[in-house]
Amino acid sequence: MAQAELTIDLGALVANWQALNALSGCETGAVVKADAYGLGAERVAPALAAAGARCFFVALAEEGAALRQILGNGPDICVFSGHMAGDTALIRDADLVPMINSIDQMSCHIETLPDARFGIQLDSGMNRLGMEPAEWSALREVSLNQPPVLVMSHLACADEPDHPMNAQQLQTFVEMTDGIDAPRSLSATGGILLGKDYHFELTRPGIGLYGARPFADARTVAHLSIPVIQTRELTPGETVGYGNTWMSDAPSRIATIAAGYADGIIRAMGPSTYLWAGETRCKIVGRISMDLIGVDISHLSEDPDSLQLLGHQQSVDTLADAAGTIGYEVLTSLGNRYARRYVGP
Ligand SMILES: *Cc1c(COP(=O)(O)O)cnc(C)c1O
Repeated sequence: MAQAELTIDLGALVANWQALNALSGCETGAVVKADAYGLGAERVAPALAAAGARCFFVALAEEGAALRQILGNGPDICVFSGHMAGDTALIRDADLVPMINSIDQMSCHIETLPDARFGIQLDSGMNRLGMEPAEWSALREVSLNQPPVLVMSHLACADEPDHPMNAQQLQTFVEMTDGIDAPRSLSATGGILLGKDYHFELTRPGIGLYGARPFADARTVAHLSIPVIQTRELTPGETVGYGNTWMSDAPSRIATIAAGYADGIIRAMGPSTYLWAGETRCKIVGRISMDLIGVDISHLSEDPDSLQLLGHQQSVDTLADAAGTIGYEVLTSLGNRYARRYVGP
């Protein structure tokens, strides 16, 4: 079998949620948008719910409706994109909480679902989603049927603790929510690590649950093992892969493994990335192909059956650095050709 195996350690996932929950000192939610950052909401969300998470966040109402099927009734499911035209039936039927981003969305919500719960998303400076101060003060004058169940905003630079934007957004958020009764939420993973001033009543970690920066103490969640299809001996001067970009300068043994950029192994990381045979690292040689990668195994005493790309030896952040991107993109790029195996908790 040439199918690579992606093992998702639900025990490590739950341990990461518990660690972030302990740091939060308030209620801790869980962000499971984009199919739980590529790791599979169907298994990830119930594991987090069993550990005690009661508030889940997704990007789209469609994701929220799918998550309701997975979780059943009980947990809150909040939708960052709010209430878009066409979302009404999904919000009603799946009992979703749209994070209202504008007066237009508020009107749409009140007109179509006057008795349905909602939250408010405020823009405290990131200029991505949420109401700006003027819009929000206008809305606060309007008497609503019911108060928002959550008022939230999002930090632009929380992964840089010393960035002045953090304190600036905190101050804006405090000013914008002054005197409000509703629970407030400002922090994702990075904000949790900034300390309790940033926590308010609810935190919303995502990436830290899945084992990546900025949560440096995270346990490894994703393990990727790729079968070796074939091995061969090269004499000095022979080349490997498209474009002849790598040439052996000594007698070498090369393994061809069964995954490539179609599986989210970003082509640009090739020249600086290793695979692992146990604790021994083996360099990628030549270009990463769509479904295949060449690896130098000359220094191994035996041909391995498979090589590890992700695991305790090498994190998503190491791959992200090699590809010039972030762990979020590495995880959400992991393809759907892997055999997925869930272990624990
Ligand atoms: C994705 C997202 C989160 C989670 O962020 P992480 O950095 O993954 O912890 C929280 N809030 C909002 C608004 C988001 O878009």
